[in-house]
Amino acid sequence: MITNKRPKPPKPPKPPKPLPVEANTHTPPTLKLSEVSVHYGQKMAISQVSLTLPSGKISVLVGPSGCGKSSLLASINRMTDLTPGCRVSGTIHIDQHNILHPNTSLMHLRRQVGMVFQQPNPFPLSIADNIRFPLREHGQKDPEQLHQITRKVLADVGLWDEVAQRLDSPALQLSGGQQQRLCIARCLALSPEVLLFDEPCSALDPLATQKIEALISRLRGRYTILMVTHNLAQARRIADYVAVFWTEQSGAGYVVESGDSQRIFEHSVHPITQSFCHGVPGAIKG
Ligand code: ADP
Ligand code: MG
Repeated sequence: MITNKRPKPPKPPKPPKPLPVEANTHTPPTLKLSEVSVHYGQKMAISQVSLTLPSGKISVLVGPSGCGKSSLLASINRMTDLTPGCRVSGTIHIDQHNILHPNTSLMHLRRQVGMVFQQPNPFPLSIADNIRFPLREHGQKDPEQLHQITRKVLADVGLWDEVAQRLDSPALQLSGGQQQRLCIARCLALSPEVLLFDEPCSALDPLATQKIEALISRLRGRYTILMVTHNLAQARRIADYVAVFWTEQSGAGYVVESGDSQRIFEHSVHPITQSFCHGVPGAIKG
């Protein structure tokens, strides 16, 4: 039968909710990783990692190169989805929600979990547009709001006074340390709840390192933070909680020991931790 009924036009997608100016005021989430393993093809990069990262605290991952620290971070905001052949198993709960569940909105997750890398990676745009661009992508179009958020997050990372007069200059003209603070500001603009830092200071000079370290310490309480560092002195200074990663003969990485920073650095029980964190000889073979 032929009818005159026209097919209904598809509903336009809902515009994303504009972001508020104020940072989240609610309690930052607890992250609970249970038996998380990461494979690249046949190769297991990390094996059965279980960790609980406390709300609003700074947790630090230490361990030698290649033991899977970056892979673990990448699985927490599902960056691992972007690597062909990479599989993540286990569960990663941000509060009650298992973000490995296939129904997880990646757009929401990437806003909820910000990530900062070893090499500062500002967009090749102006300083202000580095903040405004992701905000616009997330639906914030109001020029006054955009300005207020830009000003607030640049002030949060201690950059406002340094760049207020040149917001339209290219971000790539900033020093390495300033670029890294801009990248942190870009994350903060999206009002995240969790911040992941993958060796955020290892490409920076000592002064820039001090500033980033002080900044991460200031963010304590407002966000749940997970940082990878090779700098054990830095880990001692800023960590509330520490997980020591290890791997044997390029096998899968695993957690040797984890706990409150003071316990790990002053009363560790595992010989590998004692050797890695305190240089006690003889505990590490090879
Ligand atoms: P870390 O950050 O502790 O140095 P990574 O997570 O970078 O460790 O790497 C852990 C292991 O996974 C290493 O053996 C590394 O070669 C491997 N790996 C990392 N990324 C990939 C990838 N994209 N493809 C294949 N193997 C990878
Ligand atoms: Mg790494």
